[in-house]
Amino acid sequence: SPVRESWIGGGKAERRGAVVVLTDVTQSRQMDEMRREFVANASHELKTPITSIKGFAELLAAGLVRDDRKAHEYLLRIRDESQRMTSIIEDILKLSSLEAEEYHPPRSQVDLIDVSKEAAEHMAPEAEKAQVAVTVEGENITLTACREDIYQMISNLMDNAIKYNRPGGYVKVRVHRVGDKAKIVVEDNGIGIAPEHQGRIFERFYRVDKGRSRKVGGTGLGLSIVKHVAASLGGEISVRSREGKGTTITITLPQPPPTGGGEIAL
Ligand code: ADP
Repeated sequence: SPVRESWIGGGKAERRGAVVVLTDVTQSRQMDEMRREFVANASHELKTPITSIKGFAELLAAGLVRDDRKAHEYLLRIRDESQRMTSIIEDILKLSSLEAEEYHPPRSQVDLIDVSKEAAEHMAPEAEKAQVAVTVEGENITLTACREDIYQMISNLMDNAIKYNRPGGYVKVRVHRVGDKAKIVVEDNGIGIAPEHQGRIFERFYRVDKGRSRKVGGTGLGLSIVKHVAASLGGEISVRSREGKGTTITITLPQPPPTGGGEIAL
C-alpha cells in the first residue's frame, strides 16, 4: 500500500524510532486502562458486601429487630459478608504480589500429587455438601516451586469444579508426565462453560453467572490467580468445556531437567 511504501522509504531510522515510541505509549495507555478498570471492579465488588453489612448492622443497632431468630440470621449474614470481603481482599493481594516484578516466593521440592491430595482432603466437607465425588490419581512428579502457590493453583481449580457442578457429579484430578512436561488435569462433569465465555474466564472478576458465583462464594479472581501461578512457573493453562456436560482445565508445566550428579549426598 502507498502508506507502507512511504514508511519503508527514506529516513528509516527516524521513522522506526517513532513507531517504537507509539507502541510504548499505547502499551502504557492500555496498562492505565487495565488498572483503572481493576480498581473500579474491585471497588464495586467490595461495595456490595459493605452495603449489606451496613444495612443489617443498622437494623440491629436501631433495635428494630425484635425477633431473636431474625436477629441471629442478620448476624450470620454480617459474618458471611465479612468473610466474602476478606476473600476478595486476600485474592487481590495475592494477584498483586504475583504481578510484582520482583516475585520470589520461597521454593522447595513440591510433589504435585501430594499437594493435590492435600487439597482434596481440605475440600472434602465442601465436596460432600455439594454431593460431588473427588478423586486424585497419577504419578509422583516433583518440582522446585512455591508449595503454597501450587496448592492455591490446584485448590482453586478443584474448588471451581465442585462449585460449578451438580449433585452426583465428579471431579477428577490427574497428575502425569507428557514428554518433558508435567500436566495437572482437573476434570468435572458439571455445568460447563459456553464457548463465548471460555476465552474470558481467566480475566479478573469475569464470571459467566455473577449470581451463581456470589452464591457459592466466588470472588471472580480464582482463575486469574491460577493463570498467574502457572505463568510464574513457565507453564500454560488451557480449557476445554461443553455447556451442560463439564469442564476440563489443564495446566502444563515445564519440568526441570534431571539433576546430574551435582547434588551433595546427605
Ligand atoms: P469465581 O470466584 O467466580 O469462581 P474464577 O475466576 O475462579 O471466579 O472463575 C471465573 C468464572 O468461570 C466462574 O465465575 C464460572 O462462571 C466459570 N468457571 C470456572 N470454573 C468452572 C468450571 N469448572 N465449570 C463451569 N464454570 C466454571
